[in-house]
Amino acid sequence: MQEFEETYEKWRNMLFYTTLCIGIFVFAIEVLMYFILRRANSIMQPLPEYLFKYLMLPTILDGAVIFLGYIALKKSDRNKKYINYIPVIQMSIICMVVAYTHNCFSITQCVFCIPIFATTIFNNRAMTKNITMVNCLFLLIIFFSKKYSAINSSLDIYVYSETVISFSFIITVYLVCNVLIKYQEEKNDILQKSYMHQLEMQEMLNKDQKTGLYGYTMLFNTLQKMTSANEECIKEFALAIIDVDDFKNINDTYGHAMGDQIIIVLAELMKKYCSDNHLPARFGGEEFAIILNEGEKSYYYDFIERLRKDFAKIASGIINDTVTISCGIAKWTPSLTAEELFNNADSAMYLSKTTGKNRTTILNI
Ligand code: GH3
Ligand code: MG
Ligand code: MG
Repeated sequence: MQEFEETYEKWRNMLFYTTLCIGIFVFAIEVLMYFILRRANSIMQPLPEYLFKYLMLPTILDGAVIFLGYIALKKSDRNKKYINYIPVIQMSIICMVVAYTHNCFSITQCVFCIPIFATTIFNNRAMTKNITMVNCLFLLIIFFSKKYSAINSSLDIYVYSETVISFSFIITVYLVCNVLIKYQEEKNDILQKSYMHQLEMQEMLNKDQKTGLYGYTMLFNTLQKMTSANEECIKEFALAIIDVDDFKNINDTYGHAMGDQIIIVLAELMKKYCSDNHLPARFGGEEFAIILNEGEKSYYYDFIERLRKDFAKIASGIINDTVTISCGIAKWTPSLTAEELFNNADSAMYLSKTTGKNRTTILNI
């Protein structure tokens, strides 16, 4: 998933540094073992051969793998799918070096389980399967190296059973990892659904139930955000306030239900006219507002006039009587707060009421 890319990058690096630490840790253990065995006079081979086999060769191989992994991680395109494989394959190779160096201790073959566990970070079942196959292949290499090794030939009787046991460990770990990934997937699903539900609830709370328009809180929060935006993102916008004329009369004459219908007609018309750019709201019984984004005074005026005329036509058609709205528009200037802008638009609307209703007044500032 695209949104996980940044997280994956962080955890790829984390895995890389973990592998580096494993490499250093293995080296430190080898040095420690050397001193312990030397003290106990348990080193069977000639000293140079021991140092080469258990210290130099694994250190060179681990160093090379870490260095090449680092280069591959830096040079690879972070959008490529295979990039998550790099630190895990690197870890698998280091595990193989450990298993190869110490194949006389059958327990070291279990290290192949570690990279398989590491894949659960990426929550990708295909990747876990592929890494399991790679590690089975490495185990097979160890099996052959052990079987045909001259040094450990005395242990040959156990080589089959040990390999089968190691193989069954790998498969068990793979199955457990699969369950872990499925669990993660289900958990992500639940979280996503709960987040979507929260968004829906938030949207419902923000909206007026009767009309589906945004309510007072959303209108004011948006105005507050827009009026307090910093200088660089200052935009042109205006606030329009709309009030149904003589609505009390409509209720009294045609009934409350008809009044409701008129409110819904106006709300639907506002929704239809407002693109995603504008925010229509109902902040009172028959009082509406629209935040008109980006435009000139003439645009704001024409927009509201068109709404006023269309509403009058449609609403009057419904109740066979004259139904009109009075509107006021105030343009925002950077010195105005949300409250001041609202008061300006309300004053403009009030002016429309006092000068005969059924008109639009735009505040001249
Ligand atoms: P003006 O032209 O000055 O705006 O007069 P008006 O009658 O429209 O204004 P007034 O404030 O006197 O009356 C508004 C009425 O709107 C009063 C209230 O009962 C009614 N009202 C408020 N909310 C609703 C609603 O949701 N549905 C209906 N049907 N009526 C409502
Ligand atoms: Mg009214
Ligand atoms: Mg009113």
